[in-house]
Amino acid sequence: MNISSAIFDCSAPDLDSCPDESLPEFAFVGRSNVGKSSLLNLLSGKLDLARVSPTPGFTKLINIFTVNRTWRLVDLPGYGFAAGARKAKFKFNHAVDDYLQHRTNLSCVFALLDSGLSPQEIDVKFVAWLTRNSVPFVLVFTKTDKATPATVQANIAAFTARISGWFEKLPVIFTCSAMAKQGREELLGVIDETMTAIQAESGPAQPDALTPPEDLATTGQQVSPRMARKNRPDLVRPW
Ligand code: GDP
Repeated sequence: MNISSAIFDCSAPDLDSCPDESLPEFAFVGRSNVGKSSLLNLLSGKLDLARVSPTPGFTKLINIFTVNRTWRLVDLPGYGFAAGARKAKFKFNHAVDDYLQHRTNLSCVFALLDSGLSPQEIDVKFVAWLTRNSVPFVLVFTKTDKATPATVQANIAAFTARISGWFEKLPVIFTCSAMAKQGREELLGVIDETMTAIQAESGPAQPDALTPPEDLATTGQQVSPRMARKNRPDLVRPW
């Protein structure tokens, strides 16, 4: 994929402040220091997204960019440990929680993990949370240049062993290194393929596409964002 434009949209403090849901969104999230800013810079090439994003202090906000006028890149604040929690209990702010659970045009989350580390409880818990909430995601192991290939493979294997019992089919796994400029094409390929699948699924305009199924209409239930999510392509739903 060639990125010809990336325009900063906004820093949203909550879900209601996010732009309309007209474009597919791809969100990047991970623990602080996982290499997210470096990866976003690698993906955006010379456009240097992290630099155009509003400066430090805005890291608790949802930073949104429109790329190639056709999709949005969403830079989510990292998660951390719950204050005072005795055990590793992952926590992120309410806005991110809300965004991940209710944003109907969220097409795929890129969950970033440090390939140089053995499975971190907090990351396992975050992936468990994504899985429990049916958020479509892929796993991206970062900084592969930092450890030996054997260590990277061992860490990936250990992480997948931790989560494999939750899935019939494991989530798709990628590796990248911002330093070695590796993984860009593969990650942009996920976005490309998802966009193609979304376009193929949406097909010709359906005037009554938003009409709720009859059984819901008669019971007076509303179609929730979660149900609308069922229209997401299977491609990015690894379970
Ligand atoms: P963020 O906090 O997740 O946005 O992480 P940053 O992108 O700021 O990176 C955190 C640290 O990891 C910085 O010192 C980066 O230079 C370093 N880093 C990021 N990506 C890579 C990588 O691919 N390889 C190596 N060796 N270091 C990296």
